Amino acid sequence: MNILFYNDDDLQDQLFHVSPRQRRVAFALSLFLACFTFGALFFARTELPGLAVFFPVISAWGVMGSAITAFILFSQFRASRILPLLLLACTFLFTGLLSLFYLLALTDMLPASGPFAPGSQTAVWIWCFWHASFPIGLLCFYASIRFKTKRISLERLPVYLSVATGSVLLAAVSLLLFAASDRFLPTLIVNGDYGRVLTSGIGPAILGLNAAAFLLSLFPYKKRSVVEVWLSVASFAFMLGIALSLTAGHRYTLGWYVSRVDSLVASTAVVMAIISEVNKLFVRLSRQHELLEDSQRALEEANEQLKELAGVDSLTKIANRRKFDDVLRQELNAPQRTKEHLSLLMIDIDFFKAYNDNYGHLGGDMVLRSVAPRLESEALAHFGFTARYGGEEFAIILPGHSEQEAEQIAELMIECVRSLGIAHGYSAVSDQITISIGGCTLHPGEKSTAHDLIGRADEALYKAKAQGRNRYVFARSGRPRRPVS
Ligand code: GH3
Ligand code: MG
Ligand code: MG
Repeated sequence: MNILFYNDDDLQDQLFHVSPRQRRVAFALSLFLACFTFGALFFARTELPGLAVFFPVISAWGVMGSAITAFILFSQFRASRILPLLLLACTFLFTGLLSLFYLLALTDMLPASGPFAPGSQTAVWIWCFWHASFPIGLLCFYASIRFKTKRISLERLPVYLSVATGSVLLAAVSLLLFAASDRFLPTLIVNGDYGRVLTSGIGPAILGLNAAAFLLSLFPYKKRSVVEVWLSVASFAFMLGIALSLTAGHRYTLGWYVSRVDSLVASTAVVMAIISEVNKLFVRLSRQHELLEDSQRALEEANEQLKELAGVDSLTKIANRRKFDDVLRQELNAPQRTKEHLSLLMIDIDFFKAYNDNYGHLGGDMVLRSVAPRLESEALAHFGFTARYGGEEFAIILPGHSEQEAEQIAELMIECVRSLGIAHGYSAVSDQITISIGGCTLHPGEKSTAHDLIGRADEALYKAKAQGRNRYVFARSGRPRRPVS
C-alpha cells in the first residue's frame, strides 16, 4: 500500500481514492487562489514597503513545506519502492533546496566571498531555475506513472536512494555555484527591476512549462489519487505565482508579495493532503484496533463458553461423558491417589424404557432433568463429581471415600431419588422412580485404569439389576445390599 497510487487499481487503497468532498475543497481553494491572484494582477505593479520580516518568514515556511513533503515522499518510496515516488520526492527536495538558496541570496545570508558569493543576478537566476525545475520534475513524474514501472528490489533500494539524493544535492549546489558566478549568465535584473525575465522569453518559457505540468496533472481527471489532486492545486498555485510575479516585474511590489503566497500554497498543499490522509489512516487504524480488541474479547468469551459447553450435557446440564473421562483420568493420576481411596458409582434408572413407553419420551426427559441435579447436589455435598454417562445412566466419582463411605453415599443417593416422588406405575419394584447403583473402590495406592474401574462398577450395577433393582452392589464385596423401599 502507498498513499499515492493513483490509477492502478491493484495498488490503490480505497482510502486514497479522492472523495467528492476533497475534490470540492481542492477546486474551491484553486478558485479562491485564481480570484485572489487575478485581483492582485490589477495592482501587481503597486510598490509596497520592503517588509523585512514577511519574505524570510513566508519563504522559510515554504522551504519547510517542501522539505517535509520530500521527507514523507522518500519514506513512501522506501515503503512501496515505486520509482515515480522517488522522482516526486527528488522534485520536492530539489525545489526546496533552490527555494532555500533563493531565501539565502535575498536575505544576504550567502557567504560574501568565495565561490558561493552572490552577484547581482544570482537570486533572480535561482528563481528561474527553481520555477523551471518544479514543472520539469512534475512532467517527469507524470510520464513515469504512465509507464507503470515495476517495484525495484529491496536490495537495490539503498543504491537508488543514495544516488537520487546525492544527484539532487549535487545538481542544486552546482546550480547555486553557476548562479553565483553571474559572468556566464545574462542580466535579468537591474535595480530590483526584473522586467527582462519577461522580455527575454525566459519567463514565458517557465510559465509555459508550468502550464504544461498543470494541464497534464488534470488527466485522467476522474482517476487521480488524493495526492495527485493536490499536486494539481500546487501546480496551479505555482503557475499563478509566476504569472503574477512576471506581471509585477519588480521586487517588493504587491504582485511580488502575493506571488510569494501562491508559491507557499504550492509547497504546502501536498504535505497538507498527505498529513490529512495519514491522520485519517490513524483514525481508521485506531477504530480497527478497537474492533479487533472487541472481537478478541468476544472470541475469548465464546471460547470459554465452548469449553464449558463441550463438557456439559445439553439435556440435564450436568457434566457429560467427555468431562467424566477427563475428571476420572485426573483423579486416577492425582498425587493423593497414593494416600486416598477413590470410589466410583454407576447409576441406572430402573425400568426407564417402560416409563418412556407409557409416559412418553418427553416425560422421560423430565425425569432425567429432575434426577440429574438431585444426584449432583448430593454428590457435591460429599465433594463428589457427577456426570451423565449416557442414556439414563449417571456416574459419580468420589475421591477420598472408602468403600464403606461410598456405600453410605450410594444409599443416600437411592433415598434422595426416591424422595423426588416421581410416580412410575409401570415399575416392577416400586410405584416411584428408583435407581440401581453399582460401585467399586480403589484403595490408596491401588493401580487401575479408567476402563477397568468402570468395568468393575458396571459389573456391580448389572448384579444390582439382577438381584432385583432399587439397590446398590459394590464390586469388591459383591454383596447385595438391602433394598430401600
Ligand atoms: P433397567 O431397569 O434394566 O435399567 O431397564 P430400563 O428400561 O431402564 O433399561 P434400558 O437400557 O433397556 O432402557 C433405557 C431406556 O432409556 C431406553 C431409552 O429409550 C431411554 N433413554 C435413553 N436416553 C434417553 C433420553 O435422553 N431421554 C429419554 N426420555 N429416554 C432415554
Ligand atoms: Mg440403562
Ligand atoms: Mg435402566
